[in-house]
Amino acid sequence: MADLTVSLRGVSRHFGRQIAVEDVSFSLEPGQTVALVGHNGAGKTTLMKLMLGLIRPSGGTLSVLGEDPGRGFGARREIGFLPENVAFNPSLTARELLGFYARLKGARSEVGPLLAQVGLEEAANRRVGTYSKGMRQRLGLAQALLGSPRLLLLDEPTTGLDPSLRLSFYETIRTLGSKGATVLLSSHALGELEQRADRVLIMHRGRLLADGTIGELRRLAELPVRMRLRVNGSWPALEAALPPGTEVTRSDGIVDLACPAPRKMEVIRHLASDGTAVKDMEITPPSLDELYAHFLRGGGE
Ligand code: ATP
Repeated sequence: MADLTVSLRGVSRHFGRQIAVEDVSFSLEPGQTVALVGHNGAGKTTLMKLMLGLIRPSGGTLSVLGEDPGRGFGARREIGFLPENVAFNPSLTARELLGFYARLKGARSEVGPLLAQVGLEEAANRRVGTYSKGMRQRLGLAQALLGSPRLLLLDEPTTGLDPSLRLSFYETIRTLGSKGATVLLSSHALGELEQRADRVLIMHRGRLLADGTIGELRRLAELPVRMRLRVNGSWPALEAALPPGTEVTRSDGIVDLACPAPRKMEVIRHLASDGTAVKDMEITPPSLDELYAHFLRGGGE
């Protein structure tokens, strides 16, 4: 328990009759990068606000960096937070703003390097009111990264970032993770999370529907694995004896297979049993988008 960065046990948060979060339990460990995904209104932002101590739970208990965020939360200084809608005083420059937050966190020496890290070095002395959305987002990121936080809560951090900044953002996250920081990031961009999150939490209507590594979610979901083959004239004989449950679509020397995940190796062994029929093969496991849709359809129950 002592080593957990965050621990939620049966946490709920209601706003009047509106249920924002209901009976959610999970823990986050140091060094983990965890994706928090869910439709609009699923409860992602509410979970982050609970962890920050900005709102109190209606039920359940939570501990963040060993403390209750609702009571004299000293550990807040060790948390970096990027809100969904970053708002800064438009008449100040990025350097002034970041300097202000840096003083609060006792991290003044980090202002220059962080501005450079998020690519705002040249624009640092311009007023933020003249910034594009992506530039404001980058400044928000720099603000969240101040003071080498042990826990980073990032609400849709890559919205508005161009592709090269997205790459450098994930590079930064990886570095922080390797130094032991826990990163919880909410996002709708499932494709980009697939290779980058150690673990995925799927929220739906305030409830936690699924929690696991992508590999674990794939095993749970048992969605078909797709294979694309380039075949030659002896293919039909192999096709006739494919393991049951394998779906086949054929066109011009290309064959698409969809096989039940537990039968994947059986299918591969069968394909290899004729040394020449299959000339090339690409295997595509279920994507995070497909897993997400599966669990939302009730597949996790
Ligand atoms: P999005 O992807 O759109 O940012 P989200 O998953 O972050 O959504 P939340 O902002 O946590 O969702 O909201 C969860 C639910 O709680 C929504 O139905 C929302 O309307 C409701 N809610 C959140 N904050 C309040 C509040 N202060 N008062 C009333 N209802 C609220």
